[in-house]
Amino acid sequence: MIIVLRSGATEDQIQHIIEKAEKLGLSANISRGVERTVIGLIGPEDVLRVTPLEVFPGVEQVIPVLAPYRLVSREFKKEDSVIKITDDVSIGGKKLHVMAGPCSIEGGDELEAIAKEVKAAGATILRGGAFKPRTSPYDFQGMGEEGLKILQDVGKKYGLATITEVMDPRDVELVCKYADILQIGARNMQNFNLLKEVGKVKTPVMLKRGISATYKEWLMSAEYILANGNFDVMFCERGIRTYETMTRNTLDINAVAIIKYLSHLPIIVDPSHGTGKWGLVSSGARAGIAAGCDGLQIEVHDRPEEAFSDGAQSLLPVNFTKLMDETRKIAQAVDREL
Ligand code: PEP
Ligand code: MN
Repeated sequence: MIIVLRSGATEDQIQHIIEKAEKLGLSANISRGVERTVIGLIGPEDVLRVTPLEVFPGVEQVIPVLAPYRLVSREFKKEDSVIKITDDVSIGGKKLHVMAGPCSIEGGDELEAIAKEVKAAGATILRGGAFKPRTSPYDFQGMGEEGLKILQDVGKKYGLATITEVMDPRDVELVCKYADILQIGARNMQNFNLLKEVGKVKTPVMLKRGISATYKEWLMSAEYILANGNFDVMFCERGIRTYETMTRNTLDINAVAIIKYLSHLPIIVDPSHGTGKWGLVSSGARAGIAAGCDGLQIEVHDRPEEAFSDGAQSLLPVNFTKLMDETRKIAQAVDREL
């Protein structure tokens, strides 16, 4: 870390900082300028949390050099991480994967009808919520374990891997029994107990970005999962809240580039929640792929007007097939497979 001293910092103050730093196991290099003195400290930056050097007399600013998210950072691992989901599906390599399905699991026949269509169009992962984070307590809350069983059965029948949301630390074990990927929803991105719990299992995790989360907060949430032992984590950009009201959220394409730059973990783009309108979904999907994401999550429903949740952003199977055809061309252009 770099410590910038106030102009006029005394020799005693400088010596006091150096003594303290050395006691903490850091080695100091002093650089004296005409106006200012700067101290470079080499060693574990974690000590800053215990001893905030900002409070020392004579200190103007402490600048950390290393990112506080360590395990998720490119500094920790240079190469892209590829996360194995099943024998057929690995995320983060040349091949892009599309997770598609209804917002909520509504029943066996209903899910099967959609699964058949998304599989035919080229999706490799079936999505569907059994535990739904609804803004209103009076809205459909999901089918729970019965829904999980349906997801597993339908996934197996159509050769699709599965992803579903887990909202409660107490349900992690249960959801792991049925699903190939655990989804942490936007509203739970900073549910630290849940993050710790999914960190203790072996099932891969997709961490959606919180509605108003900064990149740093998002990276730190992923760090919770890795720090607890689960390295099979991917990010999902699903739009953030901005001043715009015409779309449900603002899909932040910058997230793809910045996460790829800062982290070795894959990133998925969800233009369904990112826009909230089915007519805008394909354009968001193409933008995500062009920017370099590793896959998509798309809501599909065969009767959107009757969907239990998120009908307005759900694509009819025919339009999902169109989206796949359109995005395939972009994937080829950026040397990826879809
Ligand atoms: C969902 O995937 O249906 C969902 C609720 O997503 P998010 O957490 O991004 O709102
Ligand atoms: Mn949804």
